[in-house]
Amino acid sequence: MKRKIGIFGGSFNPIHVGHAIMASYVMQHSVLDQLWLMLSPQNPLKQGLTMAPDHDRLRMTELVTRRLDGVETSAFELTLPRPSYTIDTLRALQRKFPDDEFYLLIGADNWALFDRWRAYDEILRDFHVMVYPRRGFEIVVPDALASRVMVVDAPLVEVSSTGVREALAQWRDVSFYVPDDVLRYIKKNNLYTPE
Ligand code: ATP
Repeated sequence: MKRKIGIFGGSFNPIHVGHAIMASYVMQHSVLDQLWLMLSPQNPLKQGLTMAPDHDRLRMTELVTRRLDGVETSAFELTLPRPSYTIDTLRALQRKFPDDEFYLLIGADNWALFDRWRAYDEILRDFHVMVYPRRGFEIVVPDALASRVMVVDAPLVEVSSTGVREALAQWRDVSFYVPDDVLRYIKKNNLYTPE
């Protein structure tokens, strides 16, 4: 049977409650059968304190997705030639899973710039797009795209990985921004904190 699979891409550096709430909400309030958190590869130019290694980001993301029914962590994009644009990733997924239907999940900030994405017209033609609200961005979907693009009315939680990393670098408390087990992982592996 054809599954409807949502793709939620990001660096998840680290995953935080904003991501977790979004994933949980979308899984329970949309047409999706599954949601995959698709980890983007480490940019070699951004290594070091700010960008945790792929395996750590993968493990932290798994700590969250294992608690959410229907939600999984995917390392698929890490195996693709780089750079992998979203259209390349979606095409590779469709080749590997020809019987499934893919839904790209993006924020209203990205939707506002979507016509600058590589092959955005092909994404809209061959896949579905789900847009969720971000503060400061109105979501406008032209009538002609109404059958391909849906809006998910997820709650806005303004936490960012950048904010979490900055707080950790200054030894500030992030217990309510990052799930407990993710925070334990960060501390155990000395991620994002100065030596
Ligand atoms: P950074 O601050 O490092 O840029 P981020 O917090 O935006 O990171 P990403 O890993 O880039 O996190 O995000 C992955 C996806 O999650 C992106 O599509 C991003 O728009 C979305 N996202 C990030 N923060 C939130 C949030 N608080 N609520 C909902 N979606 C979010």
